[in-house]
Order: sequence, then C-alpha cells, then structure tokens
Amino acid sequence: MRAVRIEESKPRLVDIEKPEGRGVLIKVGSVSICGSDLHMIQQGIVEGAVLGHELAGTTPDGRAVAVEPFFGCGGCNLCDEGFNALCSKSRFIGGSRPGGMAEYVRVPESTLVPLPSGMPLEVASLVEPMAVAFHGLNQARVTAHDRVLVVGAGAIGLAVAAALKSRGIACDIVTRYPAQRTVAEVLGANPDPGEGYDVAIDAVGNTSSVADCVERVKPRGRISMVGCFWDPTEIPMTFCTKEQEMIASYTYKCRRPGRTFEEAASALAADRSIADTLITHRYPLEGAEEAFGTAADRASGAIKVVFDVGSG
Ligand SMILES: [Zn+2]
Ligand SMILES: [Zn+2]
Repeated sequence: MRAVRIEESKPRLVDIEKPEGRGVLIKVGSVSICGSDLHMIQQGIVEGAVLGHELAGTTPDGRAVAVEPFFGCGGCNLCDEGFNALCSKSRFIGGSRPGGMAEYVRVPESTLVPLPSGMPLEVASLVEPMAVAFHGLNQARVTAHDRVLVVGAGAIGLAVAAALKSRGIACDIVTRYPAQRTVAEVLGANPDPGEGYDVAIDAVGNTSSVADCVERVKPRGRISMVGCFWDPTEIPMTFCTKEQEMIASYTYKCRRPGRTFEEAASALAADRSIADTLITHRYPLEGAEEAFGTAADRASGAIKVVFDVGSG
C-alpha cells in the first residue's frame, strides 16, 4: 500500500505492506496534517514513522468512523474515565504506532467513533482537532455566561471559535494575519479583542500568548492552555497578583458520558461551514512533500491541509 513515511525529516511516499496484527483494518478516507506533526518532525522524534492522527475511514464491514488516536492499557483509573492519553501505557496512532497517512491503518476497535449518517469522509479528519477544541472549553468550564477570548487563529484557535459557535457562545479572537481575520469573522468570532474576559483559550502556547491571556483576562479568571508549551515559557507576575487559574488541555475524553469525539462529529455534521472554512488545501498522498510545505508556510494562508486518500 502507499504510505507517507518520515525519512531524514522529510515526508516520503513509500510502498509498504498493509499493517498486520490485532485490531480493525481501516481503509483511510481522509487524514489531515497537524501542527504537532510539524513539531515532531522538527524535533527528530518521528524518524521512520507513518504520521497521521487526525483521520477518518471505513471499517471492513462498511462503517464510516473517526479514530481516537490515543489508547491506553484499558485497566487503570485514567483509562476508565476515558483519559487515554494520560495513561502511563498510552500509545499514539500517528506517532508511536503507524498512523493514517497511508491507504490502511490498523487500530483497536475501542478507538472507533461512528460518524453521523451522511457526513462525508473528506471532512471527518477534522473530528480530532474539533475534539481538541471542545476539550479546551470543557477544561476551562466555559459556559454561556462567560466572556470568552481565543488567543491565536491558527487551525486550533479557529477550531475553538467553531466549537464556541456550535455551542452558541460568542467569542473575541486575537489574529495575526489578514487571512485569519477573514476566516474568524466567517466563524462568527470578533477579531477586535478588548479586555476583562472571564476565560481565555490560549491556542498558541508561548511566552507572548500567555502574556496576552494574563493581561486580557480579569482577576480570578481562567486560562485554558490548548496550545502546548513546546519551548520553556514565561508566565508574567500579574498572573499571581490577579489570582488567575491556568488549566492544561492536551487531548479529550474518550468515554461516555461526554465522549468528546461525539460532540465534535455532531458539530461538524450540523454546520458544514466549519469544514468549508477550515479546510483550505487538499492533496493526494503523492503530493505529501508539497502538502507538508504548504502546512508549514504561514504565508500560504493554509489552515487545514488534508490528504484525500480514499478517493485516489
Ligand atoms: Zn492534531
Ligand atoms: Zn490505562
């Protein structure tokens, strides 16, 4: 089968055997490139790996599914609650295990989330990043009474704006590029932020975004860190003097009640404008090098770069 493998820090199209072993063999329909894919390549920690943790496809018996990329031991308290990524034995499809940038991927049955009927596979790779966005809201306990700020309008920041829209909650957003501003407005977010917010969702995760959150959030407000600190990050002293609360948000909840992928899939199915807005580029697997180049180039206007696999 065709797959995209990372060799010498570059994506290369290779021809490899279909994955064998236990689990369900998924025929991949779509898979998108994530900012963390780019970070992992840069840090040299995914040499020889097939990436792709934002994926959707079809089971051998014809079910259309999204795949939760983390699975754990299945027996500890964290797995019991559905926090698979936090289990000490957690595995990651698209990192420590072969991912979805291939014609087929083999995954545990427990990771499969059925798609709402009629939802096209080519938009379903967005279920994972939308789940990240919804979890970020849940971690910060966002309600309709909160004034909410999103800091950062890359793919995740815009996904957070879309998640808020889906819950009927207004937000302001900090953008950096003119293209982001336009897209934010399409998703109903106000790109002219002020101050005094109850909650900020930091979708960047560096010293300057944290400073922005601390400054714009009111005393005793909350900051949800959806963006990961890939580098050491400073927190200004006013975080202490304003008695704010900072909450980490890494993945999502993989069990009912509140299985995050289910809300994410419903939101995408209910509002087609989310996928239409967020997916800016589509490539076949053969276009991997160009696809990764586009995803890494901020000036390209790329938000989500998606591989259409199933149709090719
Ligand atoms: Zn991702
Ligand atoms: Zn576990």
